[in-house]
Amino acid sequence: MVLISPCLTMTLAVPECNSSCFLKREGGNVAKISDIFQCTRCGYCCHGETTVSLDEEDQSGMIAVLGGSKEQVCGKYWRVSEPITSADKKSNSAIVQMKTVAGRCIFYCEDENGLGGCVVHNARPWRCRQWPLHPAILGDESNFNTIRESCPGINRDLSYLQFCAILGELMQKGKIEC
Ligand code: SF4
Ligand code: SF4
Repeated sequence: MVLISPCLTMTLAVPECNSSCFLKREGGNVAKISDIFQCTRCGYCCHGETTVSLDEEDQSGMIAVLGGSKEQVCGKYWRVSEPITSADKKSNSAIVQMKTVAGRCIFYCEDENGLGGCVVHNARPWRCRQWPLHPAILGDESNFNTIRESCPGINRDLSYLQFCAILGELMQKGKIEC
């Protein structure tokens, strides 16, 4: 089924997920994100009644790409709620997330083949860029199993230790963006 999302009314092109980030290994070999993850564009990570939260940088980047004022972008695309954590309460920081439509992030859309995409791909929040290669995988195998269960792009041919060896090496070399 092809979902026609309200986000398609925007003039931005729908990009493809990109997992071709390369980082150099010591010794000349190349560790590739695609060794451990290749996005299938299933769209699962963009589904749900809530989304990741946006920090200040995410918000600025999104405003720059979408155009308009912060108030306009906020009114149309964001859901702002009261602070939840004690740290947020202390700083009086509201929680800013993206709105959802029909159980999906408002920026999610699918092409004619049903493959998922993100209308604001170049300005998606950092938590979206990082997914599914979350650092918490390195500290706990149950995190790895949970993420692997929900993300078909994770390389299933690798053991937990093999996966962590590559992920850890990639993280040492720099910020990972999927
Ligand atoms: S759940 Fe994984 S494979 Fe599916 S769209 Fe998200 S990152 Fe890609
Ligand atoms: S901003 Fe893009 S990548 Fe992030 S949840 Fe929404 S549609 Fe998915």
